Amino acid sequence: MHEPAVAIRSLAVDYGRQRALDGLDLEVPSSGVFGLLGRNGAGKTTTIRAIAGLVKPAAGTVSVLGTDPASDPSVRKLLSILLSDDGLVAGISVRENLVCWALVNGCTIRQARPLAGEALRRVSSPPPGGKLVRDLSTGARRTVALARSFMLDRPLVILDEPTASLDPVASAECRDLIRHLSADRPVLLSTHNLSEAAELCRQVAIIHLGKVVFDGPPIPHDQVGAYLVKVEDGRLSWEGRPLAADETGQFTVTTQMPPADALSALVASGARVTEFKPLRRSLSDVFLELAG
Ligand code: ATP
Repeated sequence: MHEPAVAIRSLAVDYGRQRALDGLDLEVPSSGVFGLLGRNGAGKTTTIRAIAGLVKPAAGTVSVLGTDPASDPSVRKLLSILLSDDGLVAGISVRENLVCWALVNGCTIRQARPLAGEALRRVSSPPPGGKLVRDLSTGARRTVALARSFMLDRPLVILDEPTASLDPVASAECRDLIRHLSADRPVLLSTHNLSEAAELCRQVAIIHLGKVVFDGPPIPHDQVGAYLVKVEDGRLSWEGRPLAADETGQFTVTTQMPPADALSALVASGARVTEFKPLRRSLSDVFLELAG
């Protein structure tokens, strides 16, 4: 097993008298895109700040590849963080932005130029390197910011709502780019877009009121979480407990069993099933249930 990229245990963070994180546990694996979900004010940004060592925990621990961000500023060298304010300089070209970024992060000019060229080559349709950033569309600018996020050899990339305010085509292009660029390192992706999380992430965590309330694979849209069932005599038990029918005489049987197993279990319990309909459960259902 690889060491997780980030391991957070029982983390509490306060802003004055306001408790923002309240016993948060989280593990970001060493590969793949990990989604951080939650309503406004849930604690996503504070979690990112704790990973970057920008807030001091009131309790608990954070480890970024074995480094404690609260006490070791060298953690910054492990991270590449893209915030909603991308920090690109509007008055210089795309290529100059990338070269400057490499220079301020300790590269020499001889290292910086090829790194910038390579970063642009990794993007399938990059904006021209000589174009001024101020002349780019919002989508093209995001492409440059993403290329820059993966340009340096940082072992963990953090993207904070990278597709916010993009049109559907530009969003899809950015998702393709994130998928492509994340092949060689772990990415922590904070997003409000649940279908984006389901599409990109191997695992997600839902934060609610400063705690993780769900942690696991984003539930595929076709996973069944319950079944609507009708029976001949209008009486049904599940796992030994009688269920109440709704006003149309239907029962809801909640289970993660696949359809064939659920139907077999119903029949084996003596139910004479006349109707059986799987109810699909999406990540959005889970989100609304736990954080709605
Ligand atoms: P959003 O999706 O809106 O960005 P978030 O999930 O990133 O929200 P945080 O910004 O981490 O949430 O905020 C967590 C809690 O901490 C909220 O209740 C917020 O009001 C509070 N908070 C965040 N920053 C500060 C601050 N600088 N001072 C005081 N309270 C803060």
